[in-house]
Amino acid sequence: MRRAFFVLIILSVAIIFLTSCPSIKFSLTVQIGGSGTTDPTAGVHEFTRNQIVTVKAYPDNGWEFESWEGEVASSDSTTTTVTMDKSKTIKAVFVQDQVASIIDKLDPYNPLSFRYGEELIPLVNSKTQKFLALLESSDPLERWAAAYAFQRNLLDESTLDNLEEYLQDDNKTIRALIAVAFLLNGDDSGKPVLESLLTEDTPMMYSIPPVLLSDFAEGILNAYYPVEYPLASFFPQTTAVSGGPCDYTVTVTIVFHGEGASETQVESWETDAEAIWNGASGSREWGDGCCTVTFDFDFSVLAEGAEPPDDAHVVEVKKVNGSHTSWVATPLPTPGSTETTTGEWDSLDTGPVIAHEVGHMMGLDDEYHTDDEGNYVNDNPQPEGSPPSIMAQTWGGAQPLTEHLDAIMEAADIECDCDYTLTVEPSYDINIAPGSHTVTVTVTRKDGTPAKNCDLELNITGLHPKSNIKLKTDDTGKAEYTYQCVMKGHTGIDSIDVTGKCGAIGNAIKEWIALWDIFPFGVNPYDGQKDYPYSMPLLVVYGIEPAEALEAENLAFNVSVFMGPDTLFATQTSQTEIDTGLLLEPGSDFLIEIVPVALPGTEGTPTTIEFSTAPFD
Ligand SMILES: [Zn+2]
Repeated sequence: MRRAFFVLIILSVAIIFLTSCPSIKFSLTVQIGGSGTTDPTAGVHEFTRNQIVTVKAYPDNGWEFESWEGEVASSDSTTTTVTMDKSKTIKAVFVQDQVASIIDKLDPYNPLSFRYGEELIPLVNSKTQKFLALLESSDPLERWAAAYAFQRNLLDESTLDNLEEYLQDDNKTIRALIAVAFLLNGDDSGKPVLESLLTEDTPMMYSIPPVLLSDFAEGILNAYYPVEYPLASFFPQTTAVSGGPCDYTVTVTIVFHGEGASETQVESWETDAEAIWNGASGSREWGDGCCTVTFDFDFSVLAEGAEPPDDAHVVEVKKVNGSHTSWVATPLPTPGSTETTTGEWDSLDTGPVIAHEVGHMMGLDDEYHTDDEGNYVNDNPQPEGSPPSIMAQTWGGAQPLTEHLDAIMEAADIECDCDYTLTVEPSYDINIAPGSHTVTVTVTRKDGTPAKNCDLELNITGLHPKSNIKLKTDDTGKAEYTYQCVMKGHTGIDSIDVTGKCGAIGNAIKEWIALWDIFPFGVNPYDGQKDYPYSMPLLVVYGIEPAEALEAENLAFNVSVFMGPDTLFATQTSQTEIDTGLLLEPGSDFLIEIVPVALPGTEGTPTTIEFSTAPFD
């Protein structure tokens, strides 16, 4: 009985001890700074004493996890633990994701927005893991942004090791940009990658303005290996328009400053951009071809420390050995503003890139965008066989379009005010059929200068109908046309009408008379002979029917005087009164023959006059 009581006491003590222990609990208060969620969620949670609680932080879109505040095992890991040895308060701190918010600003439909890509470059070294993760993204824009930032940074060995796989990336633009990253960091592995892209005639993703991979590779290889890869020569505000009423000049003045600005650089840019804007003939036809526009670019380097002039655009030239976004501010800053530069270009920009940027300075917009996959899209494709638009692309012989000239001149509030005057000469004349007729067409512009290379259409109605004869004026503004009238029987009128561009129109009349309709009639050769018998030379005088035929340019007469079988006199003349110089013998028989001739040698019907001199007394 005693023993049993003792056991009972021990048991009851043990029960008391066991039931008091689970009642010890601590609270964990989870707080959030910025925008994100946690597991466990924000609020107060109970945990038993010494329990190890796993906590996780998830940033919202556009935010990133920065750190935990409070007693956690690892304050900068998104997943960590809290040991509940007492009640605790922890806070997950989220900050706005700088990289994501910069990438957010890049709008593929607005090429100008890509200049913000430059802001990513200084973030690479502090957020290397983030950028490496972006390279793995499924969003082509994020991949491009990471590669773009890497290629402009000095990187450590381990980062370069991580980047090596992207030298073989399926995406050629990523491959090219990563190749530049290697070259910039003194590692030649980028070279063969760029060499393999030298024939790649597709545009780079998100290049602003658009650039072909081949052109990009060539520029980079030139920058790093100038001896082995000399740069191929490029094919051969303050925006003011002057001149008129026929010829105008558009002047764009730019002063350059910055690390990449050199005299030789800007001189070659000036030459290349002018060549593209002016084309092969040195100026562009405008206003249905009635006016011309010549582009005169004036590029110079701003002297160190000098204030930019009031009448110039101010452009900074970056010296970059990689991909850079060249841009021009839109709308353009007020002329003379020294606070705002007009734009920022790069020392590797090609002539066509400069021509494109100068296009912006003349008020033209981009004509391209990038689609969701990062592919370049031309918004202003030209018909097959026509050069592409310089505002849409910077390769393939891109040229300014007529619509660009129209837009530039419209912005300057100028209309083409140049009429053309056309004359056809001779305006009226008569010729003898058969024969040939030549007219000279002269086209003069309103300012009195010749209209060169002016296309003309000549039509003849009447005796020799001809249509759609194409003529072109020479450097003196003249064109000639000759046609033949081969039929001897042609009598009638040709109306010669010529039209040219810019309201030029002219007309001439040509009258043809058939050779066999020409009848010389002799005047008695005794007429006018005063001292009978003939001590004065014989004068041959005749008329013709119809009289107006005498005005014909190609009418002549073969006039001969015979005595018996002997030819005393023969001449070809267009006169109708001929002093033969002959002192005729008395008492002899003579014959005068008059043959009309259509020059150069077609003879008509002869007229003869016979007469005898009186015998000498
Ligand atoms: Zn552009």
